[in-house]
Amino acid sequence: MLTPTYLVSRITDLDPAALYAAGIRGVLLDKDNTLTHHHDPSVTDEIRDWLQAAEAVGIRSMVVSNSRQKRVRPFAEREKLDWIALACKPLPFGFWRASRRLQLPRRSCLVIGDQCFTDVLGAKLGGYPVALTTPFEIEHGWSFAVRRRLEIGIRRRAARRLGKENAP
Ligand SMILES: [Mg+2]
Repeated sequence: MLTPTYLVSRITDLDPAALYAAGIRGVLLDKDNTLTHHHDPSVTDEIRDWLQAAEAVGIRSMVVSNSRQKRVRPFAEREKLDWIALACKPLPFGFWRASRRLQLPRRSCLVIGDQCFTDVLGAKLGGYPVALTTPFEIEHGWSFAVRRRLEIGIRRRAARRLGKENAP
């Protein structure tokens, strides 16, 4: 249930053209620790280039974040990305809203995020393929500490099952 479709280090390890060839037409993106650092709402040039490359091959992007609107909106507008805040992942409703807004079937939308218990679980519950990334930094707080610890085994098992070169 928690094994992702792809296991990558960074979003930039995914090849947009290969994703398109695999039938992906939209990406539903987690924000914190996937696109940006927790307390720095800017994206790196590499990630901006990746988003542009995805758009150029015909893949549309939407941010689907559990954060509040006041954190998601300024970021998304600056990056010219459509967005959904307070998505309540791992509940799948935010993802469903996103793919409906993109007018794409679920199987052609790839969820991309750094957390097993929100991004991967939500994608699986919602019926989406999902790429699990490595978080940029380890968060503070006990609930993150517990989740990140539980993720270690899941990531290890996923790496064994998927192999090293699993990204398209
Ligand atoms: Mg995250």
